[in-house]
Amino acid sequence: MSKGRIFSGMQPSGKFHLGNYLGALENWVRLQNDYECFFSIVDLHALTSKFEDTGSLPENIHHMALDWLSAGLDPERNIIFIQSQVKEHHELHLLLSMMTPLSWLERVPTYKDKLQQLGAQGKDINTYGFLGYPVLMTADIVLYKADTVPVGEDQIPHLELAREIVRRFNHLYRPVFPEPLAQLSKAPLLPGIDGRKMSKSYGNEIPYAASPDEIRGRVRLIVTDPQRVKKSDPGNPAVCTAYKFHEIFNASQLDAINAGCRQANIGCVDCKKNLAEQMVVHLADIHVRRDKYAANPARVKEILFYGAERARKVAAATMEEVRQAMHL
Ligand code: SF4
Repeated sequence: MSKGRIFSGMQPSGKFHLGNYLGALENWVRLQNDYECFFSIVDLHALTSKFEDTGSLPENIHHMALDWLSAGLDPERNIIFIQSQVKEHHELHLLLSMMTPLSWLERVPTYKDKLQQLGAQGKDINTYGFLGYPVLMTADIVLYKADTVPVGEDQIPHLELAREIVRRFNHLYRPVFPEPLAQLSKAPLLPGIDGRKMSKSYGNEIPYAASPDEIRGRVRLIVTDPQRVKKSDPGNPAVCTAYKFHEIFNASQLDAINAGCRQANIGCVDCKKNLAEQMVVHLADIHVRRDKYAANPARVKEILFYGAERARKVAAATMEEVRQAMHL
């Protein structure tokens, strides 16, 4: 039986944190065993909201490639590439934009939300490119005839739109594209060290590339049960952010920590020391791979170059079909 095909991408918008890793990347590492995967650093998408600031793109792309490779994505099994290096993305985006009604784009819930959110930060992105973001995303997916797209809950409307665009294309011209299906990722949600959503804008993140000592330093700052003032006070793991980290990185000791906390047998300082060491162990392989690739930037470039070549072959064949279907 042939494997299903996945397309997924991430914008190179700065350094990753552990929440990003657990939210998407760890899932990708699992998916590479069961699917033929196209993983793309989608730099054109970064331009849809940051078109005026492109100077940091090369560095961000390099860091993203390092993050992916250190997570364990295999560059031989997967096609890993930079979106803008495969010109067929530009071409298919243009062709799909001709037949996508404006009203379909304007009703995407995240469009108005993000417009408002960025507007409040003094940023005007009332641009053609920003509105057309879901069309570019559709082009990315269908260029490789991907049948499966791993998504978070918030991206489901985008994928629904992609399916509508595919149906319209197939109906107007000829059935060229499969309708991609969403695969909801069940990734655990890692809070920030202050208990809110982990985000660089809150300054509460643990960097994905943090060294063991940086991990220990950040874990020391994780908030615990606010009612537990002294070690002799019984604690409540249900309201403790450190415990949420234990649930993800230290599942085998959960029962003992839960009981020890409630009976005031362990103190928060020791509990977090234990957590930090478990995290260091959990992330050790990532650090080893990261050091290896960071010491060899030429190899990272080569992987991206080779990935773009492989992606281009598939994309060119699809575009041949598209042009024929459209009599171009
Ligand atoms: Fe949280 Fe551990 Fe302190 Fe209990 S002992 S409040 S689980 S850090």
